[in-house]
Amino acid sequence: MVPHNSKNFHLFLCIFLIVLQGCTHMAQVVSNKVSEQKIQQQALYAIKDVNIIPMTTGSEIIEQATVVVQDHKITAINGPIPEAAQIIDGKGKWLIPGLIDMHVHNPTDLNFGASYPTKSPNFLMDTQDLMLLYIANGVTTAFELSGRPEHMAQRNEIVKTGLIAPRIALAALIDGGNGSGLVANTPSDGRQTVRIAKALGYEFIKIYSSINLETFSAIVDEANKQGMKVVGHIPDTFKGRLSEAFVPHFDMVAHAEEYAKQSPDFSDRDAAHFAKLAKDNNTWLTATLITMVRIAEQARTLDSLRDLQYLSYVHPLLQSKWLTANQYNRGSSPDRIAHFEKMAEFHIRLVKAFKRAGVPIVAGTDAGTSGVVWGYALHDELELLVKAGLTPAEALAAATRLPAKWLQLEDKVGTIQPGKWADMVLLDANPLENIRNTKKISGVFINGQWVDKSQLAAMLSKLAKKNIAGKDKYDWKKRSEL
Ligand SMILES: [Zn+2]
Repeated sequence: MVPHNSKNFHLFLCIFLIVLQGCTHMAQVVSNKVSEQKIQQQALYAIKDVNIIPMTTGSEIIEQATVVVQDHKITAINGPIPEAAQIIDGKGKWLIPGLIDMHVHNPTDLNFGASYPTKSPNFLMDTQDLMLLYIANGVTTAFELSGRPEHMAQRNEIVKTGLIAPRIALAALIDGGNGSGLVANTPSDGRQTVRIAKALGYEFIKIYSSINLETFSAIVDEANKQGMKVVGHIPDTFKGRLSEAFVPHFDMVAHAEEYAKQSPDFSDRDAAHFAKLAKDNNTWLTATLITMVRIAEQARTLDSLRDLQYLSYVHPLLQSKWLTANQYNRGSSPDRIAHFEKMAEFHIRLVKAFKRAGVPIVAGTDAGTSGVVWGYALHDELELLVKAGLTPAEALAAATRLPAKWLQLEDKVGTIQPGKWADMVLLDANPLENIRNTKKISGVFINGQWVDKSQLAAMLSKLAKKNIAGKDKYDWKKRSEL
């Protein structure tokens, strides 16, 4: 209890500050220890004779170049090769910045059972198993759009235990109505919710569909005051009054679907109108084209899911959820299938219109939606962006330089330049000639750590075996009994 007497209060404050400083110091000692260990493990690398696609604005390919990596960073391009460097042969290969997925949902440890004080999770997600899927696909940064405390724990675990994993940015989700998580139904609650999210350590705000009109504006305004960018659905309240959603600092729309829902006839005229609204307000677009493609497939049949090449890498509990409690397939009808297919087709036209209007488009997948597998889906998304009229170079920018800029990480990742963190993907073929070549991964640098194709393949095969062996233990319907 805080003493009331002011002298006592001062004493209390001093003690409090000493304790706090003590804690901070302790934290520093621990983190120095960790980083010392890391630096000792840290090798020095030189990639030789490689074709660099730096992804800086207007940059040319740097052919047969040398890239030096030391202490997490790219330290030189075409400089001298340090004697101690481990050489990676880049001959005939292509080096691109690590890829960024701008819309993901990561499973975490969770309690599916009864709630009680001191409850702990009854489902444990192996963080490395999940993160491997990103790294095996060259995804070195991911943007989690429904951040929970468990994601903070996951992020801490990655750093503390040195997992091979992407960097993760976290958006706190705010919804209206009776939503779960952070809920706000008045402007003052909206503002307070943003301040709480900031205090809890989230970097961004995600707005969800049931927020009302006044609360929406208040959240966007407060987020700007708190230095937090806003990504969101377009709340249902804006149906028929879409232009009112485009208030200053509504920074990005999380799906092309958010626009599609506003068009009764899926017309190109509507697409052009939406693109103009976004352009005029500097609201970027994460199209998540792959999501609707997968939803349409699953509405038709779950065979597409069963045949998914990389389903075996998905945790058995989620495989069970996707196959036995699939909301897109359950009660599906020819009308519904036709609707999803039309949506998927309109999304392509939306991207064309947004490109024409000059709206920045970034690559995101909604990974975690059934059938949308972490890491793998980003390559599907890149292919779809090219199908929608982006050049391979534009599609690559949508997964490197542009998202780094939106996330305010452009001084750290997103391009290959000396001084940037060493997040890079070495490819066996040129992705500018065919965007599918982003899948031909020879190895990945994550935070200066090199993981080659054979190591990744070995880890993936071990994971698939583990998932097969554990299959009978996990049934979505019995998740509370885990
Ligand atoms: Zn999502």
